[in-house]
Amino acid sequence: MEDIKTKIENLRETLRYHSDRYYNDDAPEIEDYEYDMMMRQLKDLEEKYPQYDTPDSPTKKVGGKADNSFESVVHTVRMESLQDAFSREEICDFDRRVQETVSSVFYVVEPKIDGLSVSLEYRDGLFVRGSTRGNGDVGEDVSGNLKVIHNIPLKLNKPIPFIEVRGEVYMPKKSFDKVVDRQLINGEKPFKNPRNAAAGSLRQKDSSVAAGRGLDIFVFNIQQIEGVELNSHKESLDFLKELGFNTVPFYTKVDSIDKALDEIDKIGEARGSLEFDIDGAVIKVDDFSQRVILGSTAKYPKWAVAFKYPPEEKQTKLVDIEIAVGRTGVLTPTAVLESVHLAGTTVSRATLHNQDFINEKGIGIGDIVTVRKAGDIIPEVLCVNEHNPDSVFKFPETCPSCGEKVIRENDEAAIRCINPECPAQLLRNLIHFCSRDAMDIEGLGPAIIETFVNAGMIKNTYDIYSLNPLEIANLEGFKETSANNIIKSVEDSKKNDLSKLIFALGIRHIGAKAGKLLSDHFKSMDAIMSATVDDILEIDGYGTIMAESVVNYFAGESAKELIQKLKEFGVNMNSTNVIEDERFAGMTFVLTGTLPTLKRSEASKIIESFGGKTSSSVSKKTTYVLAGEEAGSKLDKANQLGIEVIDEEKFMGMIK
Ligand code: NAD
Repeated sequence: MEDIKTKIENLRETLRYHSDRYYNDDAPEIEDYEYDMMMRQLKDLEEKYPQYDTPDSPTKKVGGKADNSFESVVHTVRMESLQDAFSREEICDFDRRVQETVSSVFYVVEPKIDGLSVSLEYRDGLFVRGSTRGNGDVGEDVSGNLKVIHNIPLKLNKPIPFIEVRGEVYMPKKSFDKVVDRQLINGEKPFKNPRNAAAGSLRQKDSSVAAGRGLDIFVFNIQQIEGVELNSHKESLDFLKELGFNTVPFYTKVDSIDKALDEIDKIGEARGSLEFDIDGAVIKVDDFSQRVILGSTAKYPKWAVAFKYPPEEKQTKLVDIEIAVGRTGVLTPTAVLESVHLAGTTVSRATLHNQDFINEKGIGIGDIVTVRKAGDIIPEVLCVNEHNPDSVFKFPETCPSCGEKVIRENDEAAIRCINPECPAQLLRNLIHFCSRDAMDIEGLGPAIIETFVNAGMIKNTYDIYSLNPLEIANLEGFKETSANNIIKSVEDSKKNDLSKLIFALGIRHIGAKAGKLLSDHFKSMDAIMSATVDDILEIDGYGTIMAESVVNYFAGESAKELIQKLKEFGVNMNSTNVIEDERFAGMTFVLTGTLPTLKRSEASKIIESFGGKTSSSVSKKTTYVLAGEEAGSKLDKANQLGIEVIDEEKFMGMIK
């Protein structure tokens, strides 16, 4: 019995963890189906062993919470979740429970949009507030981000006194592709799926970010209404349309559960060809008076059920493995398959993630494999059913795009190409190279760089320095002045400190601060390029991974060529950070709390200008902790280790 209790507790803990990743970080780590199956297991155990059931179990809670970075909104009408069903039998059980309580039932069947639930409030026909579901009782006021969604009317076609509607904000597949593309170019972590992308976008503090993400909405319910009498769901959806809302598409009213099941099949078949993701279909009792009789549990209404399509699986032959180089340099293997029809689409390719995945599953060319397509768009190879004994697959040792040697770092599954001039990574590298903390070439923003690359004017990073103003001025949208401004900012960048160039090269693990440490320590590009791992390890703040990354980078032929060309163009290769007074040489300061007059960045600059270093954590190596008001744990740590703590006054005395 104790085992069951532990099992239940473990399941709850795991579900809470994944719910947190999904709702609060917008970054799920497992498939929805896996999560749903765990939830189902917990529900079954709680029913079987009611002595271990608790009111705070995830089976009784609506996921998500209201973040305190937005104003809270208390939902007058609870924003409930839905009970789910995974088979026809479970749908029939739902129908039986409904028919036991009410008779002559009509159902409405509609797709279940995979986005996030929002409430929209209108007074006298005008939009007044919009909020997220949160935990069902309290959500977040995200009006600013909702107002920028094209299909959310700010004024209704009829000025009814008050209405609150509920809908699903989602990201169309096309917008998702664009957003992910942009994220990859900018070196950001891409969203996993359109649902997470929509949720992440709606919680942006800056509405212009949400506006650029191409979000959309389907409205599917009236939560409250004043001045209009409506009796059924179908009637209310029709009325919502009249008001100017984009209602949930192809909703259908049927008079039996068998017909409802047929509708579910139809929606399931259309699934792959829709412009948006759905994760199921919803069956709802149509008549509002019957809904009142049926009532709700703590989590969901008893008059509706969500059918979740199980991930579809099929066997097929794997005919080839292709390796592509992503914009971050990662080599990703893709299985080329004999086409199969899966979840409404024809599948002929599937992701193989990385080399470890291929090895673990023992995948080879010519194998018969099982392919699965779950909620996510990209199908994956689940397992090998028949292995082709003659097949051996070896990951390439050189980059298929540029031919340079690829590397695999100890802590990573990914194999990557680190050639700065690899054509597959060029655009991303260029955008980084020109960005503010790097070479700070103001005139060359991402869009302009993309135009120049597409026009064939930049094929390598160093081509930036041979851009021709006449050629630029001839491009559509450019004039002589704008061309000259670009050339001027390119010229200005040649004088940058070496630290900016080091950061601009985009060496893995070497950020702006590490670039500065390297540049201050070695003083010239030549010295850095001939440094060994041990030489670099002498720098306080550098570990083996960083040092090896620098050495690996400069070992590549393309890196050497790039530096040579930059030198020829007159780009500065020396540290301009000359320290005349080195009174803080060898000292490390940690800053904590709020200083009375100096900003932390100012204090850091002063310390560095006297040859000292700053660090973010207190250790035995710390010389001084410079503490201001409300200093926290760093001060305690300093006291524990016996490190001298100074205030701003003492610090100012030291630099006089
Ligand atoms: P739900 O998504 O299963 O169903 C309720 C939601 O469906 C409502 O909030 C509503 O906004 C939405 N919906 C979309 N179209 C609708 C329509 N036409 N009519 C009515 N409602 C419609 O329940 P939930 O509580 O929002 O989320 C739980 C689900 O989230 C799980 O079943 C799981 O699939 C997923 N999840 C996944 C993870 C993970 O780690 N992968 C973690 C937590 C939750």
